[in-house]
Amino acid sequence: MDNKLNSGYRYLFGPVPSRRLGISLGVDLLPSKTCTLDCIYCECGRTENLTLDIKEYVPVEKVKSELKDFLSLGPRIDFVTFSGSGEPTLHKQIGDLIRFLKCEYPDYLVAVLTNGTLLYDPEVRTRVLDADVVKVSLDAGSVENFIRINRPHKDLEISKIIDGLIGFRKIYSNQLWVEVFIVKGLNDNDIELKKIKDILKLVRPDRVHLNTIDRPGTETWIEPVEESFLTSVAGYLHNAQVVHRPDAAGKISGKDLREYIISTVKRRPCTAEDISRVLNINENDTKRHLDKLCENGEITKISMPRGVFYFVKSEKE
Ligand code: SF4
Repeated sequence: MDNKLNSGYRYLFGPVPSRRLGISLGVDLLPSKTCTLDCIYCECGRTENLTLDIKEYVPVEKVKSELKDFLSLGPRIDFVTFSGSGEPTLHKQIGDLIRFLKCEYPDYLVAVLTNGTLLYDPEVRTRVLDADVVKVSLDAGSVENFIRINRPHKDLEISKIIDGLIGFRKIYSNQLWVEVFIVKGLNDNDIELKKIKDILKLVRPDRVHLNTIDRPGTETWIEPVEESFLTSVAGYLHNAQVVHRPDAAGKISGKDLREYIISTVKRRPCTAEDISRVLNINENDTKRHLDKLCENGEITKISMPRGVFYFVKSEKE
C-alpha cells in the first residue's frame, strides 16, 4: 500500500493523522483489493475480488504478532483502525482481533471503517460490537444510484443493507458514524438527498460525515461537488460535518503542516521519507520543514542505518 511506512510490517500501516480519529494506526486484513463493492470513487483502484465470502484472508496470528510488536512499545496513537485494501468485515476473525486489542491494549481506541454492507448478518454485527467507533458508508438512497456509485456484488440488495444498519444501531451503543460520499451529477439531487436523509433518520447515527472526491478515484470521469454545496447539504441533513482531509496533497501548509509533522514524530521516530508518505507531500519539502523544526529546537534527529530519524525528546529526559 502507498501509505505503508518502511516499517517491515505487512498488515500495519501509518500511523496517519486523521481529523476524525486523531493519530491512527491502520490494520489491513485483506489482500488488495477485496471488497463487497467496487465504488467509482475508491482510492484503492478497481475491486479485483468482488465477493461476499467471509474467511480468514490473512493469518490472524501474524496480524496479532505485528500488533504486539508495535503496541508493546507504547506508541502515542489514538486509534487502531481496521481499514485498508477492501472491506474489513470480510475477515472472519475481525472480532477476535478487536477483543485482543481491547483486552491487551485497553488504552487504545478501536475503529472499524466499513462499507456496512455485511451488517445484516448477525455474526458480523456481533464481531464489531466491541469497537469504539464503527464508521459505515451510505452513498445512495435508491437502487439506481447504489448500482451506479457502489457497483455492488450481484447478491447485495440496498434494502437489506439499510435494514442491517438499522438493526446494528439497535444493539450497538458505542459511536456509529455514517459517511456520505457525494458525487456530482449522481447523488447530489434533491430526490436522492431526501432518500438518504430518511434513511439516516432510521439509522440514527451519532455523526454524519460528508465527503467528495479530492484525489484520483477509480473512475477518472467523476467530479467533486463544491465545498459550499457540501456545507448546505450538511445543514439539510442536520448535524452532518464536512470532511476536510488533513493528508491531502497540497492542502497542508503553514501552521497545520508544522503541527502534523510534530504530532507524527512525537508518537514515533520517523524518517523524512516516512513523513512524506504519511502526509502525502514531497520528500524534499518534508526534509526542509523537518530541518527547520530541528533548528528551532522543536524536534531533534539522529542518524541510524536506515537513515536520519526525527523525533521529539520526552519531557522527562
Ligand atoms: S467500499 Fe471502500 S474499499 Fe470497497 S470499493 Fe468502496 S471505497 Fe473501495
